[in-house]
Amino acid sequence: MAANPFDQQQPISGVKKIIAVASGKGGVGKSTVATNLALALREFGTVGLLDADIYGPSLPRMMGALNQKPTIADGNKIIPITRYGIKIMSIGFMVEEGAAVVWRGPMLFKAMDQFFRDVQWGELDYLIIDLPPGTGDVQLSLVQKVPTWGAVIVSTPQNISLVDAKKAIDMFERTGVKIAGMVENMSYMLNPTNQEKIQLYPKGEMNSYLNSKKIPKLVEIPFNPSVSLASEAGIPIVESNPTGTEGLVFKDLAKKISTMV
Ligand code: ADP
Repeated sequence: MAANPFDQQQPISGVKKIIAVASGKGGVGKSTVATNLALALREFGTVGLLDADIYGPSLPRMMGALNQKPTIADGNKIIPITRYGIKIMSIGFMVEEGAAVVWRGPMLFKAMDQFFRDVQWGELDYLIIDLPPGTGDVQLSLVQKVPTWGAVIVSTPQNISLVDAKKAIDMFERTGVKIAGMVENMSYMLNPTNQEKIQLYPKGEMNSYLNSKKIPKLVEIPFNPSVSLASEAGIPIVESNPTGTEGLVFKDLAKKISTMV
């Protein structure tokens, strides 16, 4: 009988909740959600952030940690970079920004193994994993190697994004990972003059789909250029403006995740 690939699963010692942040499409705000969720979760425990978006590692820039190089401790453990009280590891620390990582499956599997086993994560209540978009080798490697507590799916409201988000949900369901819920990003924009909601994208079938699957919509994050500016500057919005509308939405998201079993 063929070996069950999920038999390889091993916890990361000291790490309690491993949370995958995933999307179907790129550009929907997955890394923005991963970084700000990590920062908002600090209120509820110790947090680590693993950038597994091998093909487009944006966490070093978003977390203000560009050009940082992790060091090696005794026993060959990699010491993650600490920024804003969060331990961060990214392939972006190993390659120049803009350089392509051209790896096939086996290389990716090995890299993921090193991220899980060779990084000195220490005691963490939460390890947030920023996955690449889609349902490829990195996702497969994650679900095979470590017991993932749950997946937070990020999508924008329109069907073009939702169609691919459904595939990510399907993959997690097939591999036994709970869907913690959906984050609808760029849900609306607040008109700065009268605070009315402006619909940037057509609302698709998001709500009816989530209802039919009994998947909770965790939060709706407004589109706000200041969210993007904050990430570009390396000081995510939860750090730079924790009490603004978006900062509070991320706080709400973190609270929901922290209380979910
Ligand atoms: P992904 O990880 O899905 O590829 P990113 O998090 O890199 O997406 O976001 C893509 C772009 O959209 C970035 O420039 C980011 O700053 C911007 N962005 C994401 N969410 C918002 C938001 N709520 N308001 C404004 N800009 C956003």
